[in-house]
Amino acid sequence: VIGWSARGGGLRRESRPSPRAGGGEALLRTRLSGICGTDLEILRGYLAFGGILGHEFVAEVVDCPERPELEGRRAVGEINAGCGTCSHCRGGDPRHCPGRSVLGILGRDGCHAESFLLPAVNLIPLPDGLDDESAVFAEPVAAALEVLEQLPGLAGEEVLVLGDGRLGRVLARVLRQAGVAVSLLGREREGDPRPAGAGVELLTDPEATRERFRVAVEATGRPEGFVAALDALRPRGTLVLKSTYEGGAPLPMARVVVDEIRVLGSRCGRMEPAVEALAEGRIAVRDLIDAVHPLEEAPAAFERAARPGTFKVLLRP
Ligand SMILES: [Zn+2]
Ligand SMILES: [Zn+2]
Repeated sequence: VIGWSARGGGLRRESRPSPRAGGGEALLRTRLSGICGTDLEILRGYLAFGGILGHEFVAEVVDCPERPELEGRRAVGEINAGCGTCSHCRGGDPRHCPGRSVLGILGRDGCHAESFLLPAVNLIPLPDGLDDESAVFAEPVAAALEVLEQLPGLAGEEVLVLGDGRLGRVLARVLRQAGVAVSLLGREREGDPRPAGAGVELLTDPEATRERFRVAVEATGRPEGFVAALDALRPRGTLVLKSTYEGGAPLPMARVVVDEIRVLGSRCGRMEPAVEALAEGRIAVRDLIDAVHPLEEAPAAFERAARPGTFKVLLRP
């Protein structure tokens, strides 16, 4: 099977024997995969991961001895694969298992490939009415829903999302459908008619955000975003951090202390509510797709995804 790795520092085409199902693992045939900011960061050296990239997918279940009823069906999946025996895993949540592997990110080949493996327990079958192009957003939608799980009772609250990129747009829409009054701080996108999302206020001037919010979600991917989030927060506000600043960054921690800001790290969310929200049409995402490239043309697709102003680029084997 053909796949694309980050081995040796650049995007690299790999040709390998097909993986085999068994031992809890299901064999999946990729229908569509999404290029994520994390993929681009890994290519720049983040996490030193050298396997096949990709963790956002819709796939057909080909071989699944543990759950044969899924064979032939379309599915998405939880990307964290736990050890199954630690306290996190026994509690039903492998996202913080110390022995976990993560699809296309940590110790496990990903989905920018013709086929790949994922534990059968991780699979979530898709309802027939949900198209591939929407379902491939399940992982970023889940990551956005995680904020609502971490901060229940946000409905009615004014929240600022910083970063008008892939994740920022999804975050704004997910929070909006939960009844949050969302403002999105981003760039003016000349010639791009795509709205930020129904009911989402798009701000382009950071001055307009100053000390206005009790909650700010930082998804710019840049350390400057952390400072802009502090500027936007009232004292005792909450800064939800989605960005992973590669290589660390000098941050103004004195301001965190003086203003008694709560900093809340936020990563992966649960996939099942994400699939539900997409299937029910509560979150619309298809307009965020900029291009769909054949898997063979991954270098052009990654180049496109890295261009400023691009939301989502997909690969299709
Ligand atoms: Zn992602
Ligand atoms: Zn575990």
